[in-house]
Amino acid sequence: MTNHATEAPTGHAQPASRLPESRDPATGEVWQRYPVADEQAVRIAVARARAAQPDWAARPALMRAEVIRLFTQKLLARREEAACLVARENGKPVGEALGVDVGVTLGLADYFVGATPRFLRARWHRSSMLAAWRKRVTLVKEPYGVVGIISPWNYPMFLPLSSALPALLCGNAVVNKPSEWTPGVAELVKECLHDAGVPLDIYQVVHGAGATGAALCEEVDKVFFTGSEATGRKVAMACARRLIPCALELGGSDPALVLADANLAHAASGIAWARFSNAGQTCVAAKRVFVEASVHDEFLRLLIAAVGQLKVGPGTDDATDIGPMIRPEQRATIAAQHADAMARGAREVLRLETPPGDCYFPPTILTDVSADSRAMTDETFGPLLPVTKVRDVDEAIARANDTTLGLSASVWTGDVTRGIAVAQRLQAGSVLINDACTSAGISDVPHGGFKASGLGKVHGDLGLQECVRTKAIAVDWFQAWRQPWWFGYGPEHRAEIDAFLCAAHGSALLDRARALPKVLRLVFAPSRKV
Ligand code: NAD
Repeated sequence: MTNHATEAPTGHAQPASRLPESRDPATGEVWQRYPVADEQAVRIAVARARAAQPDWAARPALMRAEVIRLFTQKLLARREEAACLVARENGKPVGEALGVDVGVTLGLADYFVGATPRFLRARWHRSSMLAAWRKRVTLVKEPYGVVGIISPWNYPMFLPLSSALPALLCGNAVVNKPSEWTPGVAELVKECLHDAGVPLDIYQVVHGAGATGAALCEEVDKVFFTGSEATGRKVAMACARRLIPCALELGGSDPALVLADANLAHAASGIAWARFSNAGQTCVAAKRVFVEASVHDEFLRLLIAAVGQLKVGPGTDDATDIGPMIRPEQRATIAAQHADAMARGAREVLRLETPPGDCYFPPTILTDVSADSRAMTDETFGPLLPVTKVRDVDEAIARANDTTLGLSASVWTGDVTRGIAVAQRLQAGSVLINDACTSAGISDVPHGGFKASGLGKVHGDLGLQECVRTKAIAVDWFQAWRQPWWFGYGPEHRAEIDAFLCAAHGSALLDRARALPKVLRLVFAPSRKV
């Protein structure tokens, strides 16, 4: 990676753990620090972006698409370096970083390169409203201008790019405020975009923690935020004060429902991965499992067997399945949730060994976790899995929906039709049947939560729609005729309007036919004084 970064200024007010730096969670080694962008630096970055944006937006959509297509080639060429950097800053295994972080990014880029020019193309249609029969209408999709993207550390490459790539393709300039815990990945992404031909001012990165993110919310035309519910609320309030839109991708407490007819071995493998990959630090991880009573013991045995084989270690070791968590404070939160569950009567049925280090939390499976435990009521963002026995599918659905969050969910069943019926009763932005967690990585499946899990969507056409404001243009081709509803009021006009309403909306054919002469006079020869 090209080394652009310099030492962080000394004496800055932010706590040490919130200074942007590249740190290996497995060893604690810090190999690079980055300068913090203060309010003034953010203002300058956005002003530069604003000045450059009209030229970028004026390029044909296909030319912008060609630049992003080149970006995929640049990233593909640097995939090994990118995966190693994600693994080193984030803690996850290199193979996982290559498949998930780099793989999903390339998939998203390919999808948006193909989909965006089609999405932006204006299409004309005639109004379906009888009173507006003369109108031809089109929707023009215009970029917002400068969009701010504030992103977390858990998937530091594809999460910001889920919004940045479509935003750029739609003609916006982008200023990204990456997580202060993964600044190096943000620099690598920026280099690949610039090397591909995205102008320097059209894609910029400003480093820093909350204060830098807050400053960005004060300058841009739209904010795309991915992170915790608590910060999301602050971002939403900042945007509301300025009356600018924001899209919020927030936390989840995703349920996995294992029905009695499920392939239990398949469900155990899938849920093991969906909870413990990325050391459990995934927004759409399976965080609460509800199992029908008749298969609970067998499922638990299979799950313990599947997770029991996994090896915990540094992400840089090829034999590692589960790496460390990103920072000691994240570990402390999951440890407190675990202690709270144990104090309320939970039983530990599996706890894996970990190497020494301040970021490792032993992957753990709990049963008998009381419904009021923090492990059930809060988002658990680490390798801790409560498994709960339920009477039947109705209780599973009730328990699954018993949360303020609604990001995604999974249903495991041998009967797909039944799975879809259960999915329809779940309060979640997406539901996977016989898989979990992957919905957030599929390019054309819109991703975004219900309830306190967020507002808006990324991916697919709905994700593209978030990157534009839509202008309706309606053209009247018949300038010789004034509109029937223009001035010229009087008893005759009123009778004609009345006849029009009967003709347009009445159900009796005879009444409609009787109204027709007045309607024709209203439309083609209105008695006009003005
Ligand atoms: P976080 O809320 O602590 O931080 C997210 C980003 O916001 C960081 O870049 C941070 O510096 C910035 N920030 C902090 N305070 C700010 C402020 N006042 N104004 C503007 N920006 C501010 O979240 P995190 O710990 O980085 O990420 C973990 C959370 O993200 C989890 O809750 C997880 O579920 C969620 N997440 C959601 C999705 C999704 O798609 N829904 C995806 C990934 C992660």
